[in-house]
Formats: sequence, structure tokens, C-alpha cells
Amino acid sequence: MAGVLARSMLNLARRPSLMVSTMRGAQKMMADPMEHATGLERKELEAIAKGNPDPFQMSVQKKGAGTRDSPTLVPSFHEMRLVGCCCHEDTFYVNFLWLYKGDNKRCECGHWYKLIEAKDPFK
Ligand SMILES: [Zn+2]
Repeated sequence: MAGVLARSMLNLARRPSLMVSTMRGAQKMMADPMEHATGLERKELEAIAKGNPDPFQMSVQKKGAGTRDSPTLVPSFHEMRLVGCCCHEDTFYVNFLWLYKGDNKRCECGHWYKLIEAKDPFK
């Protein structure tokens, strides 16, 4: 193995110049992602093109009132969802808690959350 590696290095060192391959002057661009996207990726790109920048509702949401009577609503496509609560502005950590449908939950900071059914972004 070491002999093969040494021979390869020696062969590389003997070459007079570096060999590269380029397509200079070719008027080719990267393909449009919409042309080769399929499945959920394509649906996501179509939703973004229609003006919905967050079809899967993955962006950071602002907290609501967060009281027991008026909890912050968290949309979900499933029976449960993991939520990260930035309890205070000055903290450097996030408290994570599981939310289940029909079961409002209170974070350690006292903020209440409620899981609701998410709307289908592709209809
Ligand atoms: Zn919290």
C-alpha cells in the first residue's frame, strides 16, 4: 500500500503542469430547482412561488398572551409537536416541551401553549 502511494506521489511530481478541466466559455447555468424537484420539495417550491414563504410552518413564531385562558396557539399537522420556548429575552437556552392535541401545556416560565390543527398549505 505504501509503495503504491509513493509511486502515485512520484508520478504526480513528475508531471510538468497541473491538469484541470473546465468548460470555459460554455453558456451553461445551474438548472432551475423547479425543473428537477419532485414530491414535497416541489410542493414547497410551488407554495413559495405562490406567496407562502413558510408552507410547513417551521419559522419562529412570536408568543401570544400565553395565559391559561388565552394560550399561544401552535399549529401542527400531527397529534403532537415539539415546541421551544425562549422563556426570557436574556437567556441563552431554549426550554423544549411536547404539546399534545387537547392538552394545553404550561412552560416553566408560566407561558401556556395550545396545539391546534394546521391548515393544509397546498389547498
Ligand atoms: Zn418558557
